[in-house]
Amino acid sequence: MVWLGICMLIILWVVSFFVVLYGLSGRNGTLFLSSGAGDITKKMNILLVIAHPDDESMFFIPTIIKLTSAGHNLHILCISTGDADGKGSVRSEELYCACTVLKVPIQNVKIINHASLQDGFNRTWRHTLLATIIGEEAKSWDVDVLITFDNYGVSGHPNHCAVHRGIRLLLRDSMWANTLAWELVSTNIVRKYCGPVDIWCSMLHSLLHQKGQVHCFVNAHPTVSFNAMAQHKSQWVWFRKLFVLLSSYSYVNSLRELRRTP
Ligand SMILES: [Zn+2]
Repeated sequence: MVWLGICMLIILWVVSFFVVLYGLSGRNGTLFLSSGAGDITKKMNILLVIAHPDDESMFFIPTIIKLTSAGHNLHILCISTGDADGKGSVRSEELYCACTVLKVPIQNVKIINHASLQDGFNRTWRHTLLATIIGEEAKSWDVDVLITFDNYGVSGHPNHCAVHRGIRLLLRDSMWANTLAWELVSTNIVRKYCGPVDIWCSMLHSLLHQKGQVHCFVNAHPTVSFNAMAQHKSQWVWFRKLFVLLSSYSYVNSLRELRRTP
């Protein structure tokens, strides 16, 4: 009975993998950023805000591929150099290499190295400082759309959560009233490690929400996830290779509209 269950899981994984590769091409997230007027051809300046070099490759690949292939002008703002182990300068270079693989121009990538915003589970990042820095960068790039983690930050890392809260604070400013903002939906641990199988849950999730509130992006090129993460050589150890293979974030992203709070 156990073997039957294992066989069925393997079959489901393989079927889902081929659906990711061939079944959803061109159909996912087509209404994202379409606006009320239905204009899906307008190219926007989009800012993806992450906490550490490698967040983009571990969590946001389906989103990045979707946006760059649609011709949007994607910028990446990384709030720290990832210096928790003293490898900040190496990890910064690795982020630039990963962005080359992801077809994000180097001039669109900025890494912050601020004394109060250093990488670490025990580092507290002030939300007001984050809001100020993100606001300045968004202004300089004339950003139309912000994308970041949700309030759990996929892994629960405090730096990821802080970035989310910094953007929430920023959006309270009337200056950003017309800026669209989206958060990457964190899933439970079963969904997180079921790889391509999560496309079914993610698609159902987007269908159950009111039109346009949640968008599901499927990555039809999973090898890009490997190639991009492999650029982070200092992090490319066996368990991260396993993570890229098993993580649903390599195959699908659900983006939810980030609601403003008063
Ligand atoms: Zn991170």
